[in-house]
Amino acid sequence: MTSSNGGQVDINSGTRRQAVAVDLGGTWLKCALVYDDGTVRSSRRIATPTDGRESVLSALRSAISEVAEAAGGLPAVDAVGIGSPGMIDGDGYLHGAAVNIPGWADFSIAGELERRLGRSVVALNDANAAAMGELRFGAGRGMHDIALVTVGTGIGVGIVIEGRPHAGKGGVAGELGHLVIHPEGRLCSCGNRGCIEAYASASGMRSLVRELADGFDDAASELAHAARSVSNDLTAEHIYRELRNGDPLAAAVNETVCDALAHAAAALAVTVAPERIVFAGGIMGSADLILPRVRERFERLVLPHVAGSVELALAGLSSDAGLVGAAAAARTVQ
Ligand SMILES: [Zn+2]
Repeated sequence: MTSSNGGQVDINSGTRRQAVAVDLGGTWLKCALVYDDGTVRSSRRIATPTDGRESVLSALRSAISEVAEAAGGLPAVDAVGIGSPGMIDGDGYLHGAAVNIPGWADFSIAGELERRLGRSVVALNDANAAAMGELRFGAGRGMHDIALVTVGTGIGVGIVIEGRPHAGKGGVAGELGHLVIHPEGRLCSCGNRGCIEAYASASGMRSLVRELADGFDDAASELAHAARSVSNDLTAEHIYRELRNGDPLAAAVNETVCDALAHAAAALAVTVAPERIVFAGGIMGSADLILPRVRERFERLVLPHVAGSVELALAGLSSDAGLVGAAAAARTVQ
């Protein structure tokens, strides 16, 4: 191995293998070296460029090259993996657009980065990357088949089958956020009515609070009072804080959220048949108020044998799940 950084190869790395991993989001781009035991180092976070695809690709190339230097350069790392929003197929091609990243649409993420870096790159959906992270180092350790449901601005679903991320044709596998569960239900951002995401997402919950608040007067519900008096949107943290205080509106919102998540779990249980369905995202800080309710509803939606075959669990990793998962996927798939 030749070192391109003046011999400053990390003397602590021993014989552990290192991969460069990227977690690309609409706001931040995170890049780091990830050891095969899941240790993250040389991590950096930069603002995701907002002026088009070329700028993002250029920022990715720079970040990946810089981080790789800490391992002795790109030839010294054993894989490069990137998790990105959007429907990304098994060849690393992004189908359609990734919301929140202007110009990030309909092209081969893996191919464009390979051309710029001169080495193989594995690109996959960010939820699939996080699911791989959970499989290797989190709540799915020791398992082969898991699914991950992330509740954030939308619903992200990652699927791992036989230890490998499953993207499906056109990267469509796991696109459950816009599965309709109430055909006459609430209007969703996609234009349909009654999608899972219209209930169980940050924006869905905010709208739910405002809609349901009319049924509660100020004396009965602090949350209803806040919804009427606060001009800016209420956060999920606020809703769950009021739920702990016994607020009836917060309880009604949580029931609706848990019901939508149970539908997602039911769909995954009978199609993927994972050993475990792992739940992640900001609201899972209140998992004790959520997962038991999801389990209860889930058991009403599926046959007893199905319910008995699947565990519902809280994610085991924090914000590094996408990074360690992108590295794990790159090592597995390339
Ligand atoms: Zn929708």
